[in-house]
Amino acid sequence: MITKKIFNDLAIFMIGFGIVVGIAFPFFVLITGTPSSYVLTPLFFALCILAGSVVGLFNIYLSRRIVGTRISELAKHMSRVEQRIMQRGSASTPETCLAEDCYVSVRSEDEIGDSAKAFNSLVGSLAKSFHTEATVKAFTELLSSYLELDKLAEEALDSLRVNMNAEGGAIIIEKEGDLEILTSFRIQSPEALLKNEIIWKVVTKQKRIIMDFPDDLTLSGLVADFKPRNVIVDPILYKDVALGVLILAGTKPFDSDAQSLMELFGHGLALAFRNAITYNQLQRLAANDPLTGIYNRRFGQLRLKEEFSRSIRYKIPLGLIMFDIDHFKSINDTYGHIIGDKVLINLTEMIKANLREGDIFFRYGGEEFVIVLPGASMKDVSKTAEQMRHIVEDMETRFNSQVLRITISLGGTSFPEHPFDHCDEMLKIADTKLYQAKDQGRNMSLID
Ligand code: GH3
Ligand code: MG
Ligand code: MG
Repeated sequence: MITKKIFNDLAIFMIGFGIVVGIAFPFFVLITGTPSSYVLTPLFFALCILAGSVVGLFNIYLSRRIVGTRISELAKHMSRVEQRIMQRGSASTPETCLAEDCYVSVRSEDEIGDSAKAFNSLVGSLAKSFHTEATVKAFTELLSSYLELDKLAEEALDSLRVNMNAEGGAIIIEKEGDLEILTSFRIQSPEALLKNEIIWKVVTKQKRIIMDFPDDLTLSGLVADFKPRNVIVDPILYKDVALGVLILAGTKPFDSDAQSLMELFGHGLALAFRNAITYNQLQRLAANDPLTGIYNRRFGQLRLKEEFSRSIRYKIPLGLIMFDIDHFKSINDTYGHIIGDKVLINLTEMIKANLREGDIFFRYGGEEFVIVLPGASMKDVSKTAEQMRHIVEDMETRFNSQVLRITISLGGTSFPEHPFDHCDEMLKIADTKLYQAKDQGRNMSLID
C-alpha cells in the first residue's frame, strides 16, 4: 500500500515535471537566438511536452525497476516472516521457522540497504528469542517429568551444561539447615564445596555470584579436571526461599546472553525442585507403618539405600541388624491378635527409645524388623544387637493381670568390613544370620 502510493505520487510528479519542462523548453530555446517563428509554434510545444512526458515515464520505469524491486523484495520477506510467525508452533520447529530464506540480501549502502540490514537484524533477534523460548520450554518440560530429587538434579545439570556451554558443575540442596550435594560433574571433591563460604553466601544472600579465574582462586573445593575460567554460583530460589545452589564452571566466560538464559532456566529449575521436595515430603507421610508408626518396608529400604550411598561417599561404616520375634505365632494363638498387636507396639516403642539419633528403624515384615546403624562397625553392631536382645528380654507387656514376655533372634552385619556391592546384600546376610540364630536355639544374635 505504502509502495503503491509512493510510486503513484512519483508518477504524477515526474510526468507533471516532464510537461512543465516541455512547456518551458521553447522559451529557453529562444535565448539561443532561434527565431520565435520556429519555436513558438503548437507543433514545437507539442513535441517538447511529449519529450518531457517520455522522460517522466522513463524515470518512473527506472525508479520502479531499481527501487521498486528492492522494496518489494523487502516486503515479500516481511510477509514471509509474518506467515512463519503465524504458523509457529503448529508445523514448523523453531529452527526452520526463521531460516536463511527469511533474510534479505543487502546490496547497497544507502537507505534501502540500511532498511534491509535493520530488517535482517530484527529477524535475527526474533530467531534468537524463538530459539531461547524453545530451549527453556524443552528444559521445563524435561524437568517436570522427574519427581525424585537425585534424578531431577542429574537431568537438570546435564541439560544446563549443554545449553550454557559449561564443562562442569554441581547442584546442592538445602535440607534442614544443611547443604547436601545432589549431583556433580567433573568436580573432583564436591563435598568440599559444602564448606565453601561463597556457596553459603549465595544461599544466605540469595544472590548470584560470578567469578573469573585465574584471578579469583578462592573457591575451595572447586578442583575440577579441567581449568575453569568462569564460574557461576546461582541460588535456586522459589518465592524468596533458597532451595539450593547451582554451580556451573566453564572454560570460557559466560556472556550476558548466557546469564539471561540462566535467569530463564532458573524459574523452571526452582519450580521443578519445589515439586520434587513436596513429592518427597508426601512420600514421607506415606512412609509409616500404620500399626507401629515406624517406617514401613518400602521407605525403610529407600532410606537404607541412601545411607549405603552416603557411607560409600563419606567412607564411614554402616551397620545393619534384622530381628524377628521368637514363637510369635503362639502369642497370637494363645492371647489373640489384638494382644499380639499390643506386643508389637510395645516392642517398637522400646527399641525406638534405645536407638541413637540417625539410626533407622523399620518394619520389614509381620514381626520382623530392621535397624540401620550409620557409623557402626561389626563390633558396634554386635554390641547394639545384644543390647536390644536384653531390652526385649526384660520387656513386659501387661494384659489384664497377666504379664507377657517375648524374646527375639537377631542377625547383623557391617559395611565395609563385609565388602558389599549393594545394600540388598546386607539385608540378605542379616536375614541368613537371623535364621541361623533361630536354628541355634533363638534368643540370640549372630553378627558377621
Ligand atoms: P519363629 O521363632 O520361628 O520366628 O516363630 P514364629 O512363630 O514367630 O514364626 P513366624 O515368624 O513365621 O510367625 C509370624 C507370625 O507373626 C505369624 C503372624 O500371625 C504373626 N504376625 C505377623 N504380623 C502380625 C501383626 O501385625 N499382628 C499380629 N498380632 N501378628 C502378626
Ligand atoms: Mg517369628
Ligand atoms: Mg517372622
